[in-house]
Amino acid sequence: MPERLTPDICVIGAGSGGLSVAAAAAAFGVPVVLVEKGKMGGECLNTGCVPSKSLIAAGKRARAIADARAFGVSAQVADIDFRKVHRHVHDVIAAIAPNDSKERFNGLGVRVIEGAARFKDRDTVAVGEAIEIAARRFVIATGSSPSLPPPRARAGLSPPRKRGDGAGSCCTARA
Ligand SMILES: Cc1cc2nc3c(=O)[nH]c(=O)nc-3n(C[C@H](O)[C@H](O)[C@H](O)COP(=O)(O)OP(=O)(O)OC[C@H]3O[C@@H](n4cnc5c(N)ncnc54)[C@H](O)[C@@H]3O)c2cc1C
Repeated sequence: MPERLTPDICVIGAGSGGLSVAAAAAAFGVPVVLVEKGKMGGECLNTGCVPSKSLIAAGKRARAIADARAFGVSAQVADIDFRKVHRHVHDVIAAIAPNDSKERFNGLGVRVIEGAARFKDRDTVAVGEAIEIAARRFVIATGSSPSLPPPRARAGLSPPRKRGDGAGSCCTARA
């Protein structure tokens, strides 16, 4: 028999979106369960905002040295050790990770469950065979991915008109 949980809110996904909802719900004393199938912190902490800004910070240091001559400072970048840059990026992630950790959220009163959530029916989410969650409300915060618009022809659109031919809009539907 799976363990059956009945919180007010079940949040699926512990990225920036899901963590914010879970923390706010817990602050109001609302029983909340958070399910994450990958790393706590999601894209922002692990592959997005944090690593990209850490890498950019390293790049800015190199650029400042390379541009120093314009300020009358003789300097040049002798070497960029990408291993160390990589370590710096991961050190920054590790320094921030406790804010998004399972331990911190447990401490806030959120029950964090590791595993992939899937809807069994419209009122119940299962995590593996061991847990079922029948929450009053579900928050789906599972992130997003970019999607390319279909090619114009497949979308039933005519080719773009040239500028200045009086077309008011960029495209017209094919009859
Ligand atoms: C290179 C890069 C740089 C960026 N820089 C910035 C920036 O500087 N500032 C900024 O505001 N934004 C930035 N972003 C965007 C930012 O990372 C995203 O907008 C944000 O992380 C989205 O958060 P989210 O909670 O919606 O989704 P995500 O962070 O994607 O979290 C979704 C979570 O849901 C989990 N999940 C999915 N399906 C299930 C399931 N069935 N069961 C359980 N868990 C599931 C995933 O494992 C994931 O952890 C950047 C993005 C990239 C790629």
